[in-house]
Amino acid sequence: MGIVDKMNNLSSDGSTHDDCIFCKIVKKEIPARIIDENEYAMAFLDVNPISNGHVVVIPKKHYSNLMVCDNDEILYETMKMVRHVAKILDASKLQPWGFNYLSNQGEMAGQAVRHWHVHVIPKYMKGEGFQFSSIPSKDMEDLDDVYEILKTGKAKQAKMEEKAKK
Ligand code: 5GP
Ligand code: ZN
Repeated sequence: MGIVDKMNNLSSDGSTHDDCIFCKIVKKEIPARIIDENEYAMAFLDVNPISNGHVVVIPKKHYSNLMVCDNDEILYETMKMVRHVAKILDASKLQPWGFNYLSNQGEMAGQAVRHWHVHVIPKYMKGEGFQFSSIPSKDMEDLDDVYEILKTGKAKQAKMEEKAKK
């Protein structure tokens, strides 16, 4: 189990498909301002928008995040709807200048609703709307070490020896 899975399990809010707010929107048990819908996916206005036309795109089937979505057709159809919604917004009178596409995974990363979703957030002006603030982690590895870890599954020998001495 990867650390992300572990974090997801640890931070589980115990929600099931039955009490998932987005599943309720899919089943039309609660209302939403639906922008697009087909048999695989749905797009609706975010109830608490960051900017005008902020849309959430979801697969109709419940997957808690992108990583556990094992159905290529659903992945494809959901991302296709993301593109379609962006085009609708782009052609609309809202006249955005750009977009941020965002999918949070895990509480740590800001995921509040544990049903995979992609935010489509129109951008109108710098300093407004979604902000991508990059604050580097305190414990940053050397870039070559990160690459080594990812490519070989092992940390660099020197690094391991250095850590072993500590
Ligand atoms: P997250 O933080 O999980 O990435 O984003 C969840 C988003 O879902 C939030 O932006 C929030 O405003 C939106 N949201 C939560 N509940 C509802 C709801 O009942 N209806 C709609 N339309 N959006 C919701
Ligand atoms: Zn759900």
